[in-house]
Amino acid sequence: MTTTDTPAFPSGTILGYPRIGRRRELKKAVEAFWAGRIDAAELEATAAGLRQATRERLSSLGLGRTDSSIPESFSFYDQVLDAQVAVGAIPARFADLVDGDGHLDLAGYFTLARGAGDNLPLEMTKWFDSNYHYLVPEIGPETHFHLASDRIVREFEEAVANGFITRPVIVGPVTLLLLAKPSSDAPAGFHPLDRLADLLPVYAELIERLAAAGAQWVQLDEPGLVSESIDIPRDETLAALAQAYDALGGLTTRPALFVAAPYGSLDDALPVLVATPVEAIGLDLVRGTVPTIVPGLADVTLVAGVIDGHNIWRGDLAGAFDTLGELSALSENIAVSSSTSLQHLPHDVEDETKLAAELTGWLAFADQKIGQVATLARGLTSGLSAIRAELDAATASLADRRGSPGVRDGAVRARLDTLTPADFSRGDYETRLAAQSQALRLPPLPTTTIGSFPQTGDIRRARARLVSGELAAEDYRDVMRAEIGRVVQLQEDLGLDVLVHGEPERNDMVQYFAENLDGFAVTENGWVQSYGSRCTRPSILWGDVSRPQPITVEWSSYTQTLTEKPVKGMLTGPVTILAWSFVRDDQPLGDTARQVALALRDEITDLEAAGIQVVQVDEPALRELLPLKKRDHAHYLDWSVGAFRLATAGVADRTQIHTHLCYSEFGAVIDAIRNLDADVTSIEAARSKMEVVQDIQTSGFDHGIGPGVYDIHSPRVPGVAEITELLERALQSIPARQVWVNPDCGLKTRGYAETVASLGNIVDATRAVRATLV
Ligand code: GLN
Ligand code: ZN
Repeated sequence: MTTTDTPAFPSGTILGYPRIGRRRELKKAVEAFWAGRIDAAELEATAAGLRQATRERLSSLGLGRTDSSIPESFSFYDQVLDAQVAVGAIPARFADLVDGDGHLDLAGYFTLARGAGDNLPLEMTKWFDSNYHYLVPEIGPETHFHLASDRIVREFEEAVANGFITRPVIVGPVTLLLLAKPSSDAPAGFHPLDRLADLLPVYAELIERLAAAGAQWVQLDEPGLVSESIDIPRDETLAALAQAYDALGGLTTRPALFVAAPYGSLDDALPVLVATPVEAIGLDLVRGTVPTIVPGLADVTLVAGVIDGHNIWRGDLAGAFDTLGELSALSENIAVSSSTSLQHLPHDVEDETKLAAELTGWLAFADQKIGQVATLARGLTSGLSAIRAELDAATASLADRRGSPGVRDGAVRARLDTLTPADFSRGDYETRLAAQSQALRLPPLPTTTIGSFPQTGDIRRARARLVSGELAAEDYRDVMRAEIGRVVQLQEDLGLDVLVHGEPERNDMVQYFAENLDGFAVTENGWVQSYGSRCTRPSILWGDVSRPQPITVEWSSYTQTLTEKPVKGMLTGPVTILAWSFVRDDQPLGDTARQVALALRDEITDLEAAGIQVVQVDEPALRELLPLKKRDHAHYLDWSVGAFRLATAGVADRTQIHTHLCYSEFGAVIDAIRNLDADVTSIEAARSKMEVVQDIQTSGFDHGIGPGVYDIHSPRVPGVAEITELLERALQSIPARQVWVNPDCGLKTRGYAETVASLGNIVDATRAVRATLV
């Protein structure tokens, strides 16, 4: 391709759009397929309908129908899984799912994500600094790359057949390999990036196929370039980048290439990318800043990600337009876009009928963000005067928000001002341990769960009836108490040691607290995809946070009346409450976190006073909020760890504080986890077969630790032998006195059949291993 025949990049675009559907249609269809209620053809038809509805919607919001401004960003489960499947990177253990031509059908595709029988699913982990989870590719020296799926071509052709020229989107080759882990048969020292030269021809073939189908632009997402938390020397990453885009850019028959780098700034990757033949580069100017000039930049289209794809605030539109002005000093070809895919946002503020009108005016969900992109794009082509009214309206809304009562609460601020270092510290661990051992009298290798038990249809229906007013509050409480009674009895029967109430009364671990704290609002339809078919409805933290009254105390103390065993009180930690909400952007996150921490501290004090001896403060999101740039880590860890300590340091020595983290990649945060100073920390470990315990050992972690022995992300029941082996592996690295036994995470998404079987196996395995301890 020569520059003269490069099609113009559209003046306004977004990097991607939510795919789960305005009313979660895709979730429902996928789950119906899994349950056998619909077949693959019906699922495909639903998906095609959703894709077409999306294209129509995006064009009605201001993106062009035939100028490649609409991204073709659908996925049945995950975009990283799609890319692995497209290039044929199917782990050997799934070889049976692949037909003679190397293709995987829809059922096989989902099996990679969900596992089957003894075949563990692909590992899942957080996507950059979002709350989205992707499936980790497994790539080894033997992985046979070939174009195994042309779904992306077919979806583009489907768009054409419907009158659209869209822009296919795929995870780029460098990021795909950076995010991959070596397959289990790979020799030591192998990294998937070693396979780049073998992978590139497959991307080349795909790109050529898209050209033949009529695609004008293709978007390759390379967020791997902005992250420093990937264990590959930077110069190797940059060399791979040059190699990849020199090769793909050198193809003679291809669409124009748009390489997007969301979630941060490209830094030293920018000059490298500019030196390749790619035609457009996407910059995240919300997380990053306008780059300094580099040679050749003026010849590239700079796609300015100035509209925050990560957050729901209407924001400073005039400021965004100024940024476009700064950028136009670097290149004549400027376009405007969202900073990231809008997959992290709910669809439409218009779908919210119960939010205060004032708040609604401060918000922009995906559809409103597209309106903002369209406005700025108009400003780019027609000048400031064409959009002045929109910019002024956004500025006025910002001023209105700043001055609104509730955004600043004097009492909350005064209390924060009086804190001293003692408020953040619990004192000596060994002293606490002795007091707790005496109070709790637990066996070695104590067993517990992470908190939630299956959220059955009955529980959900009762909650729906409470919300609709069909069920009175007292009757709802009775239904929940009956459920708690069953969960306690089950745990007694199974022989677990530290019991939980099962969290039946919680719709969601963050939303539940948001509903009970001042400073938050909750949405009706604000669903975003978390992983696969799983969606969450993040709350909106808009003002100063305080606790009008106790939240969980009644539930926990009721539960404690049902059993002699210790009942663990369950709270969600300040960092996780922030991470899984849409948080105000008008003050530092650390200030907001301390407000939440104080509210939780009061709750923990009340739980302790009510006789609860163990309190778990979940911080599954601690690592997820870790900034992608190492230079920002220390500051983040300081405020996040501080908030946890502020929440938990108000208790007596004998009260045992647990925390739970939903992942196993500890590298960058292991010191922070030690600094949390929780008495017991449960983590995910089953999918990665306890690999993590070595890191824990080397770090010198000496508090209680519960490496998960049951991967709750899949319906698979782990056998006693398997759990025993995992436990024995843990005990090779960690002294038995530190080890707790628990699943990887809460059980709310599981059914009762597999839960009971799995927990039974956990207790049996623990007893067997206990018997071998001296
Ligand atoms: N206590 C929560 C539960 O069990 C923890 C969930 C989580 O870590 N994501 O559901
Ligand atoms: Zn978890």
